[in-house]
Amino acid sequence: MDELFGFSKFLLTLLIFVPVERLFAARSQKIFRRGLLTDLVFQFVNGWLVLAGVVVIVAIAIVVNQSMLPMAVKHAIDALPFFVQVILVVLIGDIGVYWTHRILHAVPAMWHIHAVHHAVEELDWLAAVHQHPLDVIFMKAGSVFPLFVLGFSTEAIGTYFLIYYWQAYLVHANVHLNYGPLRYLLVSPEFHHWHHSSELEARDKNFAGMFSFYDLLFGTVYLPKGQRPKTFGVDNAMPSNYLLLLAYPFVAWASRQKHCSKAHEE
Ligand SMILES: [Zn+2]
Ligand SMILES: [Zn+2]
Repeated sequence: MDELFGFSKFLLTLLIFVPVERLFAARSQKIFRRGLLTDLVFQFVNGWLVLAGVVVIVAIAIVVNQSMLPMAVKHAIDALPFFVQVILVVLIGDIGVYWTHRILHAVPAMWHIHAVHHAVEELDWLAAVHQHPLDVIFMKAGSVFPLFVLGFSTEAIGTYFLIYYWQAYLVHANVHLNYGPLRYLLVSPEFHHWHHSSELEARDKNFAGMFSFYDLLFGTVYLPKGQRPKTFGVDNAMPSNYLLLLAYPFVAWASRQKHCSKAHEE
């Protein structure tokens, strides 16, 4: 039962990140910060909604794999050693994360979904889970779908999930860590903190989840030397309650619709 709800894994994550944030804090911030209770609801409820979407994505991907993927490609991927599969899975998965994330920022209707994640103003490790389920499902469609279509082993994909789990908490953690010369290769906490910055120059930058060189490659990297992001959040007021946050994109879409039809009538 404990495992079913992921309590032990969560406890381990908490036992690691709370002391690490005390020791290497990027900003002084309370453990019991604003929105903490809402994030605990995200932690324990969101996963179930996301799971429903991921099951559908994986099922469709397996059908595509079995009906359309050429045998030669299947055999070539099967023949790869485990660690090569893991490297390829992380590289391909992160391209998916990069582009779905960029779309979530660039398309106004998609931004209403992703704004939920950017609503956090006091960034710490638990902010990682503050995401609308549709946001996570869309990103998984971009990252996990191609992996199952290509037929990588479940062990290799499982390893990617495990790496991604820790990476997500780490990059949101309130720690002063930029990886020095490796900062243009791997996504560090400082790199992702800039992504959350409300400062104008930092907006729509640093989309990658694992490899910062994707942002370098696609021209969206932002890592000013000797500076650190100071403020986080979005311009408009956001709800702080879990259910209202779930409803947020739908409310925003409805009000846009109303606004458009009103403008049309006039
Ligand atoms: Zn974002
Ligand atoms: Zn984030």
